[in-house]
Amino acid sequence: MKTRLRFAPSPTGNLHVGNARTALVNYLFCRSISGEMMLRIDDTDEERSKKEFEENIKSDLNWMGIFWEMTDRQSTRIKNYNDALNKLFESGRAYRCYETQEELSLKRKAQLMSGKPPVYDRQGLSLEQKDHEKFANEGKLPHWRFKLTDDEVVWDDLIRGKCTYDMRSLSDPVIMREDGRPIYTLASVVDDIDHEITHIIRGEDHVTNSAAQIQLFKALGIQPPSLGHLSLIAGSEGEGLSKRLGSLSLGQLKQEGLESNALTSLLAKLGTSDPISFIENIEGLIKDFDLKKFSRNTAKFDMKDLYLLNKKSIQSMSYQEALKRLKLIDLDNINEEFWNTVSGNLNNLKEIKLWWNVVFGEIKPIIDNRNLIDIAIKLFPNETLDQTTWGSWCKIISSESDFKGKELFISLRKALTSYDYGPELSKLLPMIGKEKILSRLSGNVS
Ligand code: GLU
Repeated sequence: MKTRLRFAPSPTGNLHVGNARTALVNYLFCRSISGEMMLRIDDTDEERSKKEFEENIKSDLNWMGIFWEMTDRQSTRIKNYNDALNKLFESGRAYRCYETQEELSLKRKAQLMSGKPPVYDRQGLSLEQKDHEKFANEGKLPHWRFKLTDDEVVWDDLIRGKCTYDMRSLSDPVIMREDGRPIYTLASVVDDIDHEITHIIRGEDHVTNSAAQIQLFKALGIQPPSLGHLSLIAGSEGEGLSKRLGSLSLGQLKQEGLESNALTSLLAKLGTSDPISFIENIEGLIKDFDLKKFSRNTAKFDMKDLYLLNKKSIQSMSYQEALKRLKLIDLDNINEEFWNTVSGNLNNLKEIKLWWNVVFGEIKPIIDNRNLIDIAIKLFPNETLDQTTWGSWCKIISSESDFKGKELFISLRKALTSYDYGPELSKLLPMIGKEKILSRLSGNVS
């Protein structure tokens, strides 16, 4: 059987850091074992599912370098879920229930108060034909539950190793609603069977689902696929992901100027034994990928790592690539020399505007030491500027005055650029040009 994985987002929101990581790990694992990839759209929640979210998810995945051979959507497969439900009903593994949410919550409260675990009491299972008829006459429709067997479910998790789940602690899961909408627990298993999925990798928050779904696969006569559960992501101090990070969408990251290969470099290594390093493309990540490197410990997500990787990403970007991207933000007049001079100093691509302005636009100079600057004006070399000008200019200022080292460099930098950091001045000076340099040193906005 062909190796096949799937990523199954619900289009009820945009892709965020957490599910982007699940998608990426699925993809890297899939490609590292030469498998096929499927995108399954879990859109059975008609009210909350939006076409717009689906489109965003797809384009965000492509942005990260993730592509797939097959697509399917749950909303077109309702008949398959009903067929599976009938099969389960015939074999005595699906049963009808009528409790309302309020009744169920009262039952749970009573169980908790008498010290019992709040597990569904299977009242629906003991209903007889006449009870069902009575409910039908009252116009009540049933929802359906899957009858778990009260044993231990054991599986060899691709990430967590041997997992054991005591099913007595679980309520029989609801698998179909009154209105005929399937619940994810059933729909996902039916899909995974029909799509011949061989490996499922998803977040640790699905462990309980997996235990129930393993029984579902078996009840439908199929051996479950291999399962792997990724540890969840926490903030840099180990705290739960903050609201901002937890819901940070890829769209927002893009807007902040983050490069996709900075994000994928981080997400691919999160929770693994590998150090975080910048890896330029998805092929490099695939080559490095090994599910064995993932640990059960919570993975720490630190924005600082992401910013650092972003810097590296921009440093490694070729001029041709940069130009393609700069055109999109109307900065297509940037030449190769300028790119090579400033790219090492950019935290994100948009920042190039700032240095472009320093060289070709107008800035308000910061003169923090008039005396020093006056000497600098007097000693400014009267020759064509090149990359040696800065060095020889500073040297002569130091030898003819008491100003030297950092104090000298920073004061000049602030006067010439209005910043106390930035690209090498030896390269900037010839680009800024003599006229502008002298004007700025005199304190003019220029
Ligand atoms: N739509 C489900 C989710 O987003 C899919 C989970 C799974 O991979 O089975 O949580």
